[in-house]
Amino acid sequence: MKSISTINFNEKRVLVRVDFNVPLDSDGNITDDTRMKACIPTIKAIVENGGRPILMSHLGRPKGEVQEKYSLKPIVEYLKKELKTEVNFVEDITSEETFEKVKQLKEGEVILLENVRFYKAETKTENENHKDFAQKIARYGYVYVNDAFGTAHRKHASTATVAECFDKKNRVCGYVMHQELENAKKVLGNPERPFVAIMGGAKISDKIMVIEKLLDKVDALIIGGGMAYTFFKAQGGKIGSSLVEEDKLELASELLRKAEEKNVKIYLPKDSIAADKFDNNATTKLVNNKEIPDGFMGLDIGKEAQKDFANVLKDAKTIMWNGPMGVFEMSNFAEGTNKIGEAVIEATQNGAYSLIGGGDSAAAINQMNAGDKVSYVSTGGGALLEYLEGKELPGVVALEG
Ligand code: AMP
Repeated sequence: MKSISTINFNEKRVLVRVDFNVPLDSDGNITDDTRMKACIPTIKAIVENGGRPILMSHLGRPKGEVQEKYSLKPIVEYLKKELKTEVNFVEDITSEETFEKVKQLKEGEVILLENVRFYKAETKTENENHKDFAQKIARYGYVYVNDAFGTAHRKHASTATVAECFDKKNRVCGYVMHQELENAKKVLGNPERPFVAIMGGAKISDKIMVIEKLLDKVDALIIGGGMAYTFFKAQGGKIGSSLVEEDKLELASELLRKAEEKNVKIYLPKDSIAADKFDNNATTKLVNNKEIPDGFMGLDIGKEAQKDFANVLKDAKTIMWNGPMGVFEMSNFAEGTNKIGEAVIEATQNGAYSLIGGGDSAAAINQMNAGDKVSYVSTGGGALLEYLEGKELPGVVALEG
């Protein structure tokens, strides 16, 4: 796959798919700019090389309808400040008037198109206007750059179909896409051992494919968060009212069997902080994970689990972390996730390579202001998981042609 460094952008209009899918509060303020910040070097490189970027992104899931709360307009000021240039915002993505504006774009200026998901044709490949929508936006650039790793697992007009309208030598990836793939390849390729993966978060069902794939790669797998209780129940434990996926009990047992066959050591948390309700101010108890009393639910890993996990991480040379150890959004159940974050940071300081999978584990590391203390924090949750599962990402395939 070619990257932007192969292109001479001078005087060229460049259609750039970025990932500005950032969280906004009810007043339209950006509450976490990680994804936008990540794309800035790509946009700057295009501008500094004489290119004229036309930026497009999605925000949220407006389901093909114009919804003010999903407008990209609040992002214009941020971009002006970061890029130190004029940013023109265009609401109607496909009109002839917009095409005229694009043609008149001056050197040093940038256009930001409104949320591509305001159009049904963006996400639905079977929509009769899908190809037409892609062709209309493809007219805007001579070169197509995709830097939206976070949406690369979607076969949408702006991420995949549009690429086919460009000459092969003129479809390239931006810096974010390049870095994301290089970092994912580090753990998929020939990782330094011991390789330890940490999986957490709510459900096994979301991560089953990646766990299976990792069993062929890792030396040890740490399992925490809500998903751990399905494993305990599968082993005959009493888990009180902890999160459980009843239809995945057999699968959990099967995973444990497979791990044993493959000589992968599985670490489940020995203890939990259990609460009498799903509330930061609930009454809590430190409990053994196979004997959680009725009416109590495990919301964080306990002290012994923290120690066990940190011990495993101490010797790791490669670490991949996806998913929090508990309900880290509530301060009283964030300690386990923070302690694991600290252990990952310490291992990194001692020479380990650490990849933090996007989504909630990235949020946890950012909450600790420690993004620069680990090797790489991915901007893509679902996209990274699918890549690690071994799936082809349509956004990447489209660039390869
Ligand atoms: P995921 O998107 O699958 O990575 O899940 C992340 C979510 O899992 C976060 O919102 C956490 O609050 C939640 N979570 C983590 N541990 C638990 C738990 N023990 N019980 C319920 N939810 C949990």
